[in-house]
Amino acid sequence: MSLYDKYINKLKNQRLADKAVYVVTEDRVSVYGGDASTELMLAAQELKAYCLLFVRPAEPFMTALEEAAKDGEFAPNDSETRTFLHTVPVTDNFAEVPSALKRRKAVFVRRQGIITAAPFGAEQAFIFASSVLFSGFVKFFSDTGEAALLRNPCCTETALKLFDKYIENFHRSDLPELSKDIMRSDESILSAMAQAGRATVELGLVDSFFGNISVCKGKNIYISRTGSSLDELDGEIDVCPTDESACTGLTASSELASHRRIYEITDKRVILHAHPRFSVIMSMICAEKCENRGKCHYACTKKRYVGSSPIVPGEVGNGPRAMVNTLPPAMKDNDSVTVYGHGVFTVSANDFNDALRLLTETETAALKEYQSILLASQTSTRSPL
Ligand SMILES: [Zn+2]
Ligand SMILES: [Zn+2]
Repeated sequence: MSLYDKYINKLKNQRLADKAVYVVTEDRVSVYGGDASTELMLAAQELKAYCLLFVRPAEPFMTALEEAAKDGEFAPNDSETRTFLHTVPVTDNFAEVPSALKRRKAVFVRRQGIITAAPFGAEQAFIFASSVLFSGFVKFFSDTGEAALLRNPCCTETALKLFDKYIENFHRSDLPELSKDIMRSDESILSAMAQAGRATVELGLVDSFFGNISVCKGKNIYISRTGSSLDELDGEIDVCPTDESACTGLTASSELASHRRIYEITDKRVILHAHPRFSVIMSMICAEKCENRGKCHYACTKKRYVGSSPIVPGEVGNGPRAMVNTLPPAMKDNDSVTVYGHGVFTVSANDFNDALRLLTETETAALKEYQSILLASQTSTRSPL
């Protein structure tokens, strides 16, 4: 199976796409995943990009993207969008795709789908496309949730319909039983990490390229590499000494510093980090009457939670609001902590079972809270009979 087919299958198996087509321009042009429209072929020709990916999102993503794109280019304030996309340009016209792709990594064509161009090939195009799916989804649901809270609801009916569809297709609470007694050997740690990563992706708690996972044993931290897929961790795990000075951390996850600090100040030995969609959405909308609206990630007047998972800011860099300074202290008293607009970190004592359960529980709580915000706004605005 080619890499192209592999990523097409991922998009379809994870129910993210109805259709996914790669157009690859080398000496000759090859198409994978079905027919490419004439417009797509023309765009590929004009761009001379090595690899073009077209994705028609499955529901509820397609409608969420259409709604997110209503006013044109969009950019929710979540970390995936900020890191990978900046903004997602929107057009009605395929002829504008090449110029949009010259300035951005991906473009959304209304009523058609997502197109990304990737000079480094299949995997990169897949990452960009799944970031757009995440971005549009987060944008639509966080805007609708916030509007409902502010008693200025819009699209509540659509949001509820898409929400039900999402629950039906994506939400599962039947947890697999993961390996126990994982600290026996290097091999048992590595295979437990691979198993937990796969389960996290299969449960829909993260798109495969995001998130990270680690185990601490003795003086070593076993951690997934940056850019690795959580559902394919075999051979993708670095071993770094807990002693800071000794690890270069070149390939280790960019979040190694946070993991290391958590191991320093807690007695937990396992960390799981994912981007569950509604935990991210709920972290971004403040359900309180808050005078600091817009600054709730660091200046909220209420201590906020997703379920029982406290929300902390997590900016990049080393400042006081940087994740490495906010997340570890919060994990001292909580086994699940949500980083604003980013994702959830969970820990457990010695295997991944508790960490995975906590991750699922946090997301389930987020889904319930979100739904009740929409339902409450619906009853309060419905005119009395
Ligand atoms: Zn993350
Ligand atoms: Zn607030």
